[in-house]
Amino acid sequence: MRYRIRRATPVTFYVHLVLTLLILVLACPLILLEQPTIKENRLAPVVTYAPITTTPIQDQLRIQMYDSGQGKVVEMLLDEYLVGVVAAEMPATYQMGALRAQAVAARTYCVKNKISSGCSAHEGADVCDQSNHCQAYASPEQRKTRWGDGFGANEEKIRYSVYSTQNEILTYQGQPITVLFHSTSGGMTEDVEHVFSQALPYLRSVESPGEEDSSKFHDDKSFTLKEAAQLLNERFQDAKVTADKLSGQLSIVKRYDSGRIEQIRVGGVTVSGVEVRRALGLNSANFTFTVSGGQITFHTVGYGHGVGMSQVGADAMAREGNTYAEILKYYYTGIELDEIWNYVK
Ligand SMILES: [Zn+2]
Repeated sequence: MRYRIRRATPVTFYVHLVLTLLILVLACPLILLEQPTIKENRLAPVVTYAPITTTPIQDQLRIQMYDSGQGKVVEMLLDEYLVGVVAAEMPATYQMGALRAQAVAARTYCVKNKISSGCSAHEGADVCDQSNHCQAYASPEQRKTRWGDGFGANEEKIRYSVYSTQNEILTYQGQPITVLFHSTSGGMTEDVEHVFSQALPYLRSVESPGEEDSSKFHDDKSFTLKEAAQLLNERFQDAKVTADKLSGQLSIVKRYDSGRIEQIRVGGVTVSGVEVRRALGLNSANFTFTVSGGQITFHTVGYGHGVGMSQVGADAMAREGNTYAEILKYYYTGIELDEIWNYVK
């Protein structure tokens, strides 16, 4: 069978012409309407949040939080608790993508606690308000004091990060994940087992670019040689270091790929960088040191344990245009975002 190219008859030609003109006429107003909006946005960038639908209050999850100020366990709506957590754990100046990532991470932490054993320090509580135990929490009064004139705008921004991600949590193979996050990784996050005991497939070391401008990226902490020797001997009883010989008694043996110290010789013992960080209250386990004029100075890179999401890194990713889901999937390897109601009844 042969195919022939059919030549357009004059009638088909006119039909096509009319249709093309019609499309142009219809499209023109759309193009014209689009332009003033773009110009207006360029001139005056106004922060507006897209409308969101939230779960009716009576259907929202409630949690029990140990309030250290009141010294008792109080019940509150999960998302009202999360507004206080995001406000306390991340600067309100951060990008919306980073704040939303923080909201989902904090929600996951709370839900995981609620469906397991709860806060181990306070009976009857799902979580406590302590950053060194569960997650930091700032009450509405504390937020007003902290933000002053900025309260209105900051509160609106933080509330939006929480309520626009309502009911979303992070899961791995059908279970809410163990959430860990920190301030500044210093360029690379850490495998969880290098800091805490248990290895987890979603808490793996990843590069975390764009953190260099953060105020927490570099830090120096100085001690007199006597102070440092005393702190190290208190922590490591077999170290037996002395102020006059400390510079020779401290030597870094091995580092992880992230730069954090895997092993360091402290006099008579070999310990981890994490242990020295704890003994001396350093910002991170990624450090070098210099000795001069009776003082020893530790130069650290990054701030925090370095496992899971870097908050400064999350903000850098958001600035590059990544969404909260992309940020979370980057820092928590192989995870999914799922509905809270699949895990809590
Ligand atoms: Zn706790």
